Amino acid sequence: MSRPAVFLDRDGVLVEEVFNRQTGERDAPLCADDVKLLDGAASALKRIAQLGFASVLISNQAGYAKGKATLRALWTTHEQFIALLSADGAKLDAVFYAWGHPDGVVPHFSGPSLDRKPGPYNIFVAEAQLDLDLPRSWLVGDQLTDVACAQAAGVRPILIDNQHKPRIITSSALRAPNLLAAVQHIASTMNCSSEAHRAKPHKQPRY
Ligand SMILES: [Mg+2]
Repeated sequence: MSRPAVFLDRDGVLVEEVFNRQTGERDAPLCADDVKLLDGAASALKRIAQLGFASVLISNQAGYAKGKATLRALWTTHEQFIALLSADGAKLDAVFYAWGHPDGVVPHFSGPSLDRKPGPYNIFVAEAQLDLDLPRSWLVGDQLTDVACAQAAGVRPILIDNQHKPRIITSSALRAPNLLAAVQHIASTMNCSSEAHRAKPHKQPRY
């Protein structure tokens, strides 16, 4: 039987963004030593599993395509991310990265990318591979591209605050201060469903 998923953006949701001197902005970590889990990340993943959802990472990682790091460095960054989660007793059920970028400088990784968010490509691949129920699923991200990806796939979005990039966002998506709060909201909707079910018992026939 299909199960629902919580699709997760990585940087700014599970992993702390790092100040990049080249761009002057906070960006994805580009080496293993720079990976730091955000507070509550592992707890949130464990809660997601307890609730019966698959945890599926959907992440754009264009650092190599843009010439910022080697592909090997980005992969060891990923391995460190998984190792830190594991050390805290948490895991992801699947991971999907989009490595290309439309404005990249590296051949074969530059140009239109089917799998980059906001496109829903990787959500549909995950649906097939893990036998997921998309209408019962959620996506938690910190960018409007995450919201657009969720909406394109028919998944409910929750937009969390990026502490280092405060901004006014015009979006009708649900908001939460962080991932743990988003997961608490997901849990509360499940409780609401069961309460609604209990509140409407079958009518007893009258004779
Ligand atoms: Mg992000």
